[in-house]
Amino acid sequence: MRAAVFEKPGQPLDIRDVPDPEPGEGEVVLRVERCGICGTDLHMTEAHGATAPAGFIPGHESSAEVIAVGKGVERLKIGDHVVPHPMRGCGTCAACKSGSPYFCVLGPQFPCGGFAEYLVAQSANCVTLPRTLSLADAAIVEPLAVGMLGIRINTFLPGARVLVLGAGPVGIAAAFWARQCGAGRIAAVATSRTREPIARAVGVDGFFTEGDNLPGELTDFFGGMADVVIECAGVPGAIARAVELVRPQGSVTVLGICEHGDPWIPALAVYKEVKLQFAVGTNLSEFRHAVDVLDRGIVDPLAMITDVIAMDQLPAMFEALKQRTSQCKVLVNPGA
Ligand SMILES: [Zn+2]
Ligand SMILES: [Zn+2]
Repeated sequence: MRAAVFEKPGQPLDIRDVPDPEPGEGEVVLRVERCGICGTDLHMTEAHGATAPAGFIPGHESSAEVIAVGKGVERLKIGDHVVPHPMRGCGTCAACKSGSPYFCVLGPQFPCGGFAEYLVAQSANCVTLPRTLSLADAAIVEPLAVGMLGIRINTFLPGARVLVLGAGPVGIAAAFWARQCGAGRIAAVATSRTREPIARAVGVDGFFTEGDNLPGELTDFFGGMADVVIECAGVPGAIARAVELVRPQGSVTVLGICEHGDPWIPALAVYKEVKLQFAVGTNLSEFRHAVDVLDRGIVDPLAMITDVIAMDQLPAMFEALKQRTSQCKVLVNPGA
């Protein structure tokens, strides 16, 4: 099969033929219909933070069709459409049994394999899609689940004034769920206005950039300070910014992944008694809920999909996304 293979930082992904995968016990082989490019894929192939090993095939936001089932697989059959959770688990520990393979006793791995024609997944970690939801649309289930986690994990009350920092796919997804969960006014702050239409499509009422007069304009917009700040920018300074912009005794949830040193002054969070929560481990319930909502026809977040590309276009796009670009969620169609 054709796959996009990582060798080392500084070298673009290489499209080449690799052996077709075989399903082990409890596993299925999937034909990947779409796989989104995520900031995490970019981080794992750069020379900072944790870097994936040579020969690694990135891609963990896939939607796919089951084409082979391994021994012991009963809940899936050939032809089923699924979204696999990006993490593998032992299947028997408490976390795995509760649908949270990220917190398996084996520890998290580099999520991988989606930038290929075929992908092996654990049957237990695949969420089955109804036929009424297309595989093309289901490719955003993973980023939607991440955004949902950001709303679920911290204190969130209906009517809350929600501020999202960053308007990438995770910020857009967090804003979408805030709206679905009954937020009051929702504002987003981004580096430019490029993604304003996408943010507004999912329910953001006020869109600001770092060039605006903050926090003054935000306070005017909310009629006070934000009750909840969801940090989705993942850049140095973002946590300090979130703490600055939240109200005293408000909540900050950090979904952004910043792999650089980031000195900030914790006392500012203490003085305001900020509830600071980090979040990363989506569970299968979040995946199922995202599938349900899309299937019910609440498809506003599809606005985040700005590009669908063929495998041959992936290496150049992957490099381009490491710089600031106008794209939001780019999906790869490995079969094209
Ligand atoms: Zn991702
Ligand atoms: Zn486990």
